[in-house]
This record gives sequence, C-alpha cells and structure tokens, in this order.
Amino acid sequence: MNELVRVARLLRGYLPTLLDAAEAAAYDQRIAELLAADRAGLPIDDDLVELVASSPALHTWVARVLESPWLLPQEVSERYTPLAGDRAGSDLQRYACPVDGDVEWYRVSLSDPVPICPQHGKALVLAGPA
Ligand SMILES: [Zn+2]
Repeated sequence: MNELVRVARLLRGYLPTLLDAAEAAAYDQRIAELLAADRAGLPIDDDLVELVASSPALHTWVARVLESPWLLPQEVSERYTPLAGDRAGSDLQRYACPVDGDVEWYRVSLSDPVPICPQHGKALVLAGPA
C-alpha cells in the first residue's frame, strides 16, 4: 500500500485531536473523497500533499508520522515501548473503520475511548497489527 494512503487513513483517526470540530469534519470529508478516488485507481498523492500542506497542524503531524520508524503518530510512539524481540508495533491495538478501513487509530490505553468513524457513524473495530 502507498505510504501516503496509510498516513491519510491514520490522519482521519486523529483529526479531532488536531483541529476544531468543524474543521476536522471538513478535512475528514475531503480525505475520504481522496481515499475513495485512490480505491478507484486515480492518482491522489499531489492532492493529498496539497491538502495536508493547507493546515500547519496537519502538516506538522504528518511530517512526524513520516519520520517515525513505524509510521506511528507521535502520541502513540511516545507512549509505546516495544518488548525485546517483538516485531515493531505488534502488540499495539490498531483500530479501523468496519466499513472500508479508511479510518485508522491506535488504542494505547484502555482508558482511551474508541472513536466513531465520522463518515459512517460506526465505532472503529480492532483490526490487528498493520
Ligand atoms: Zn468509515
């Protein structure tokens, strides 16, 4: 899978922590459209990069994910310590949208409430390691 597509899915899971509700909803809709276009075989990288660059908060967040060794959000990697010999990230709980998988999020603590997919209105489900 295209690295940018994976980061876009993750970004959707963290938009509510990066932007206010109205902005997050607007960006989520736009990213959902791009992911649907990707699934239809259309090139989306340029549009995705442009979209991310239009918000300093998103730009900073995405740059940090792309720099991280396992493409993890900083708020996940800094709370996560892999056990010796573990495959990187293998014991992280990855959640995804149950409809199309186009929203991803990591549960680091049981006290983290599982988000709802803003597009489909369904709670994300455990999807196993990426
Ligand atoms: Zn969904």
